[in-house]
Amino acid sequence: MSEVDFENGKKLPLVEDFYTVQGEGFHTGKPAYFIRLGGCDVGCHWCDAKFTWNSKLHPPVDVDAVIERAKSFPAQAIVITGGEPLLYPLDYLTTELHNSGLDIFLETSGSQPLSGRFDWICLSPKRQQPPVTEIFPLAHELKVIITSEADFAWAEENAAKVSKRCMLYLQPEWSQFDNVMPAIVEYVKSNPRWNISIQSHKFMNIP
Ligand code: SF4
Repeated sequence: MSEVDFENGKKLPLVEDFYTVQGEGFHTGKPAYFIRLGGCDVGCHWCDAKFTWNSKLHPPVDVDAVIERAKSFPAQAIVITGGEPLLYPLDYLTTELHNSGLDIFLETSGSQPLSGRFDWICLSPKRQQPPVTEIFPLAHELKVIITSEADFAWAEENAAKVSKRCMLYLQPEWSQFDNVMPAIVEYVKSNPRWNISIQSHKFMNIP
């Protein structure tokens, strides 16, 4: 946790917030208001959100103002993403959003203990900073990024730690899409517990 005072989550380091359509995973295609927080302790070399990494560039803002903006759109669902949002206390934000009747989805690497209350937790584990143990049984969705066929073993390693009800997704890393997609297709056909997630927002040209 940074030394910045987040006032128990009443202030958070916002990068951007916007209304769009979820492009990845189980909720693909669902309109959702995205709240993207700055700072990440993982550092994936292929990250497509490197602009979020330096939390100093994203000073804490008043969470109430973000919530009011979210409520001004017809979105029924909120996606809290980053960066790594669990670097920050999320109880205030999620409580207030729930009080407005909104469903709240979390996108996390699981590198930090959970805070806040979510209707859906998408856990996307990364080798260089694996998830904390206690988050595995809480995940509704495991989304493993595939950069090469070597990542299938990493995917199975993580799938062994989630609950039986957890949805399993393999998602090609965008820059390796053409290289890994054929192997992913064959893998899910042979291992039907798994599903394919693609970054459909990139095809739709939406954020
Ligand atoms: S965990 Fe997510 S935000 Fe952080 S470096 Fe990896 S892909 Fe980027």
